Amino acid sequence: MIRIAIQAKGRLNEQSVELLREAGVNIDENKRKFLTRSADFPLEVLYLRDDDIPQAVAMGVADLGIVGFNEVEERGFEVEIAQKLGFGACRISLAIPKAEEYNSPAWFNGKRIATSYPKILARYCEQNGIRAEIHEIAGSVEIAPAVGMADAIFDIVSSGGTLVSNGLKEVEKVLFSEAVLIANPALEAEKRALLEQLMFRFEAVIDSRGLKYLVMNLPEEKVENAVAILPAMRSPTVLPLAQKGWCSLHSVVNERELWDKIEQLKKIGAEDILVLALEKIVR
Ligand code: ATP
Ligand code: MG
Repeated sequence: MIRIAIQAKGRLNEQSVELLREAGVNIDENKRKFLTRSADFPLEVLYLRDDDIPQAVAMGVADLGIVGFNEVEERGFEVEIAQKLGFGACRISLAIPKAEEYNSPAWFNGKRIATSYPKILARYCEQNGIRAEIHEIAGSVEIAPAVGMADAIFDIVSSGGTLVSNGLKEVEKVLFSEAVLIANPALEAEKRALLEQLMFRFEAVIDSRGLKYLVMNLPEEKVENAVAILPAMRSPTVLPLAQKGWCSLHSVVNERELWDKIEQLKKIGAEDILVLALEKIVR
């Protein structure tokens, strides 16, 4: 049995539950308690505030955790970063009122900076030789300059919309973050094996996100051209068709490139192109 701490509610909760589900670890959210056992994997989920997850894992209250890398960095507890999970992307940035002229981090000398990430900020200031006053506040950091509590802020940014609507501009991107799987560094062998099993499944789930399975009919003499357009995993699968001179070609393509690839394939004579959802890739 292994215990994983995830965010009880908030931005990472849903995607954490979804990642587990796609990895074949279902948790009945209707029967959800503080601690809930999965029906199909020897795992129990502990629901916590994200701030508390690194400490819970470092103490061994939970063996594993899913949390933003930013929280791991800020809390400073000793945990192992086992895997990047590809969701919850954001950055922690310095932002100042948009009318201010800005040339370099030296701007922050003697300024008051409001933040919920004082440790990461203190480290950045030290590394860049900045002497600023760090004001730790728990929430609504972005309004601090407007109400006169601070000259600047150091806060999470994803699209930047919140900064703009508060009359601020992002001037230094300090830390890039995404959700990570963390582990207690001293897991016993049985739990280590379960962790590896989970990581293997997570990798398959993460890898197959954004991928599509393509099937098309193609004149046989065009196979080489198609292979050049579709550098698939090893190489595309080619199956004969009942009609002479034609084959069926199967491959995997990233959703971002989908339309571009389809247009190129049409040009070399591909017909009846099917685009199918791809459930998982196990490498
Ligand atoms: P809790 O109640 O668990 O303490 P919280 O309010 O501290 O929750 P959330 O706002 O739910 O935290 O954010 C959780 C994590 O989601 C952040 O620490 C960060 O890693 C990630 N994240 C991604 N994008 C954003 C964003 N635009 N704003 C805030 N957090 C984001
Ligand atoms: Mg929090």
